[in-house]
Amino acid sequence: MDHLRALVLNSTYEPMQFTSARRALVLSMLGKAEIVESDGFYIRTTTKSYRLPTVVRLNRYISPPFKSYISFSKKNVLKRDNYTCQYCGVSKAELTIDHVIPRSLNGVSTWENVVTACRKCNLKKGSRTLAESGLRLVKRPVRPKFLAYASTTPDNAPRSHIESWAKYMPRLSR
Ligand SMILES: [Zn+2]
Repeated sequence: MDHLRALVLNSTYEPMQFTSARRALVLSMLGKAEIVESDGFYIRTTTKSYRLPTVVRLNRYISPPFKSYISFSKKNVLKRDNYTCQYCGVSKAELTIDHVIPRSLNGVSTWENVVTACRKCNLKKGSRTLAESGLRLVKRPVRPKFLAYASTTPDNAPRSHIESWAKYMPRLSR
């Protein structure tokens, strides 16, 4: 259930961001948000089961961060890459960041040249180029359009989730 995401709406119903469905549930339990939509996914503890939300609405208005760009940092690179090695796709490993064009070849630290890599792939690649290493990128690294604002839906989301998000994200193509 860890991969399930929920859309967080501002108190004005504007889409704010995606968070884990588990965290959205916690927000509602803390009285910080109300559950607006949910579907057939549950989380079970030893004694109880809870319906996971797909959309929650914050009880208090949060002023949106008027930041035109997302700062480049290791933390944000990991977030952009969904904490997944961009060479082999593992996520349950010690994650590092890797320069696609190595620094020894004047590779720069930019969104386009830095990816999340597990230690194994990072070692395997070493200070070689992509072609030399024989490794392939899961996807081309780009500057993320948003980490804070919801404008696209998370990958591999259940169809039912996308349908419930679409109601609150008018620009979202169904
Ligand atoms: Zn890897």
